Amino acid sequence: MKIRKVPLRVCIGCQEQKSKRELVRIVRTPEGNIELDPTGKKAGRGTYICPNRHCLDAAVKGKRIERSLKHAISPTIVGELAKQLPGEDSDV
Ligand SMILES: [Zn+2]
Repeated sequence: MKIRKVPLRVCIGCQEQKSKRELVRIVRTPEGNIELDPTGKKAGRGTYICPNRHCLDAAVKGKRIERSLKHAISPTIVGELAKQLPGEDSDV
């Protein structure tokens, strides 16, 4: 009788442990790009974050994305990631 465990990941924003499904993956591709990986299947070094601006902000401020991916994150990249995350302040 095996219970299948849901894999847990820590959000780099709020640093809460959540199931992989609740989080979205940010990946550093072999080409050195930082992108969101909604499928979770892209090659590269990845880290997980809640799909909201609040956690993205927290992760950026704490420089946790950079540390986790060992790659500098420019404001342009942050903007690109933010665009793909639902946020209270998005004026779509
Ligand atoms: Zn979070």
